[in-house]
Amino acid sequence: MAAGSAAAASVMLAGRALGQSGGVRAEGHPMPGGVELPDTPPRPKRADSVGYAIVGLGGYALNQMMPRFERAERAHIAALVSGNPDKLNKVGDAYGVPAGSRYSYDNFAEIASNESVDAVYIVLPSGLHAEWTEKAFAAGKHVLCEKPMALSSAECERMIAAAQRANRRLMIAYRCHFEPYNMQAMELMDQDAVGTLRMIRGEQSYRMGPTPPAENWRVNRALGGRGPLEDYGIYGLQAALYLSGEMPESVAAASYQPAGDPRFAEIAAHVASQLRFPSGAVAQLATSYDSAGINEVDARGTTGALLMQPATGYSGNNMVLEMGRESREFTPGDSTVQFARQLDHLADAIRDGSDIRTPGEMGLRDVRLMEAIYAAAESRRTIMLNPDGTMRS
Ligand code: NAD
Repeated sequence: MAAGSAAAASVMLAGRALGQSGGVRAEGHPMPGGVELPDTPPRPKRADSVGYAIVGLGGYALNQMMPRFERAERAHIAALVSGNPDKLNKVGDAYGVPAGSRYSYDNFAEIASNESVDAVYIVLPSGLHAEWTEKAFAAGKHVLCEKPMALSSAECERMIAAAQRANRRLMIAYRCHFEPYNMQAMELMDQDAVGTLRMIRGEQSYRMGPTPPAENWRVNRALGGRGPLEDYGIYGLQAALYLSGEMPESVAAASYQPAGDPRFAEIAAHVASQLRFPSGAVAQLATSYDSAGINEVDARGTTGALLMQPATGYSGNNMVLEMGRESREFTPGDSTVQFARQLDHLADAIRDGSDIRTPGEMGLRDVRLMEAIYAAAESRRTIMLNPDGTMRS
């Protein structure tokens, strides 16, 4: 299943004490459901392997990312950060992380003197990304930050400035840029496989079970943002940009926040948007936390259509190119390599100084576009955009 699984969404929020990030702070929670810890700890494979500290031991970190370090060539887990000491020790033992490299949110600053840690991987709720990215840079570490980069463009700008001040690398964990189907889709679009692009459609939704903002960060505005766009719809938005190769010049949108539903006391249930690109191509994006599951992206041009369904999953993606009555299925490889490739990509950037395919600037660009989408929905007006995604009107 793609981002935002129902299991992950069930993690409880114990409380909401005041902190730096929009009135919320990092805190510990029990082990999420379905976690299978390794029987034998994975080891670094190369002498120059980059040591990552994982911040936030939730569903995505424990069920998806951490088991995939095994397949990385130049990355290993060197430290863990959690607010739940019991979980920290269980996971630390299973992954062979030394006791001295296990941190709480309170003593995280001590990681600065831990030479086994090169990079910090922020896998916390989205509303905490900015604060913890800045803390990691203050400790002199490089940062891999989960998507969305943050909940406001002002936070993204602060994160980029913090990276520059610390002279460290910042990468956003946009795994689809390392996933074989999406990489092949980008190539096909570069080769005009559908002719001249006219329309893109992206739909990402699932139906969330009953859950109020005090118990689930995804429906809590300070931790999850304004709706499903930040967590799940961002995949369709990203695809519209990497398949078109353009930035939109205008945005129109609609959102809906039903009354009397605790899930949507603070956020929208659905967000739909229409983007127009300078070439004249248009994108239609819809995302929901209250609709039967879908994860689909189509790009349709003058001579054909590229259909992806599921489009951006952890595994099991499908892609077909339709050209009139002919259709060709693509099977470019195992989608699950995306996780390890992403870890190796930042490791290469750290060790070799190579470019980052998904830098902080890309995260900032997308957060600006999401701000424009919500502004268009709220004002019920079409918003004109500058080439960097900032709003013109
Ligand atoms: P989760 O709820 O399963 O885990 C969140 C973790 O943060 C838990 O360990 C929790 O204890 C910790 N935490 C610290 N302070 C917290 C607070 N105040 N409230 C709630 N939790 C707090 O969530 P998740 O699904 O693992 O998502 C974590 C991050 O990973 C998010 O940024 C999400 O967007 C991202 N994610 C990315 C993908 C992807 O495919 N790239 C998929 C899922 C999640």
